[in-house]
Amino acid sequence: MTNEELILKAASAINPKQLKNGLVGDVGCALLAGNGKIYTGVCVGIDSNGYCAERVAIGKMITDGSEYVIKKIVATWKDEEGYLYVIPPCGHCRQMIKETDEKNLETEVILDKDKIEKLKDLLPYHDWWKKQD
Ligand SMILES: [Zn+2]
Repeated sequence: MTNEELILKAASAINPKQLKNGLVGDVGCALLAGNGKIYTGVCVGIDSNGYCAERVAIGKMITDGSEYVIKKIVATWKDEEGYLYVIPPCGHCRQMIKETDEKNLETEVILDKDKIEKLKDLLPYHDWWKKQD
């Protein structure tokens, strides 16, 4: 699974709809799990609560079975003219990816078809728990 293929999977999940209380489906995520399966998700941005596309895809992966390792992950968004953008995970999602399994510090976060960063490099000081005297 190339970065470009995963980007296209994420883009295929995009299906925006304006609900009474918010916009849903305008960001699409795809992740390649440790079991080799692809899981997708869309953002659910409603007033009472909100979930990023990444967290929805991770929830689907966990629901599907006993998989917690993420090899690659990408989120995408389209503007009004239909141009596709790859967007980085927010801080909440970065932390959730790490806390789903510590092995996910090695997850490749796709930032472009030719650019990835490991999650650990997007979470500086993730292991900084400095005991105070
Ligand atoms: Zn997020």
